[in-house]
Amino acid sequence: MDKNNSGGGCYIRGVCQYCGQALIVSMSETQAEADIKAAEECTCGGATRARRLKERIQNALDGIEKIFGQGSKDADYEPIGAAALDFLNAAVTLILEGNIESVSVTIPGVCRAKLLLTAKGNIKICRTEGRTRVIES
Ligand SMILES: [Zn+2]
Repeated sequence: MDKNNSGGGCYIRGVCQYCGQALIVSMSETQAEADIKAAEECTCGGATRARRLKERIQNALDGIEKIFGQGSKDADYEPIGAAALDFLNAAVTLILEGNIESVSVTIPGVCRAKLLLTAKGNIKICRTEGRTRVIES
């Protein structure tokens, strides 16, 4: 753990949580922050998988926003309420992390939402209300 006390906290050596390798990273306020940067930069299998998962979750969250959030207005759909949107965002994260396989909910007066993992391992986001919209990524 390298610490330079002259300028407050500045940790420049982070440890990758996946392989334990120490990496020199840009200046960080805390050791934990330096460790996160190390995991973001490390090329080991665990860190690479974690980055890929993070990307997939971000893509899925973008898809939820596009189909159910404010973005749905672009296609002439009604955005769902913030609490329901939070629920769908949490559900899609749980699916990609492998905790659940699918979820199906009814948003009263608006639509039905279905999120599921396909056989290929893609996430499928469906909105149904007489007409259906599907995004698979
Ligand atoms: Zn690593």
